[in-house]
Amino acid sequence: MSQPAQRAANSQALSLPRFDGVVEQWRADGTPGVGETPAGVVLICEHASNTLPVDYPELGGDLGLDADTRASHAAYDIGALGLARGLAARLARVAGGAVLVHAPLSRLAYDLNRAPDHLAAMPPKSELHLVPGNQNLTPADRVARTQAICQPFHATVASEIAQLVARGRRPALIAVHSFTPVYFGQTRDVEFGVIHDDDTTLTMAVMMAAKDCGLDTRLNEPYSAAGDVTHTIRLHAVPMRLSNTMLEIRNDLITDAPAQDAMAERLAPVLAVALRETGAV
Ligand SMILES: [Zn+2]
Repeated sequence: MSQPAQRAANSQALSLPRFDGVVEQWRADGTPGVGETPAGVVLICEHASNTLPVDYPELGGDLGLDADTRASHAAYDIGALGLARGLAARLARVAGGAVLVHAPLSRLAYDLNRAPDHLAAMPPKSELHLVPGNQNLTPADRVARTQAICQPFHATVASEIAQLVARGRRPALIAVHSFTPVYFGQTRDVEFGVIHDDDTTLTMAVMMAAKDCGLDTRLNEPYSAAGDVTHTIRLHAVPMRLSNTMLEIRNDLITDAPAQDAMAERLAPVLAVALRETGAV
């Protein structure tokens, strides 16, 4: 690339907005704030938000979505952020603190748990919902969203983990998701899915600890790593050899704040046992 062309490319990149991951922290006593000891657990909620980049047409704007789609599970993981916060506050007490990184934008603008070349990263269609703003994206469109949404989020996650590792802590990474009870017309009975990547240690410990939690708990349901759903774990936990697992909760069980808190109260002891038994905390 010639120097003027390189400068033009740089200035275009500089003019893009930057959507960093949103960071929340809890101290070792479970109260919000930055603790004196490095946190032993990092929770990640890649599908926390249904906010659209409405002020940025270069990132798809409102994607042409109707209100129903914007409020649906296609746009975000319903209830997952409230659950993740409830888990973080409780796990902070057993892990010396907790960090939560969550998404500022809808996965329909960019699915942060997918690589940039994955069709579902900027999906033209999600289950039954057409996404008008994701039809016929050009390579430049895809690069813009990757630079403005995907890279900043994962830089945030990497930075939070690096700070803990630099302070002598090897945090466990727990991804928190929810799923729809009916998918393509099929009812799903599973209530709590625990999904592993190549390192199965923490996931199997969660499965054992969940035996009496009262939920229909299943391994690698409704998704598995074979469907590329462990992208975040592969980016951040695997290279650093951090304990990791991915949780999927059926979203009809966590529709409002009281239900999210009750689910956190139910699952936190399960996760605490698994973290302790595997030596992760
Ligand atoms: Zn999700």
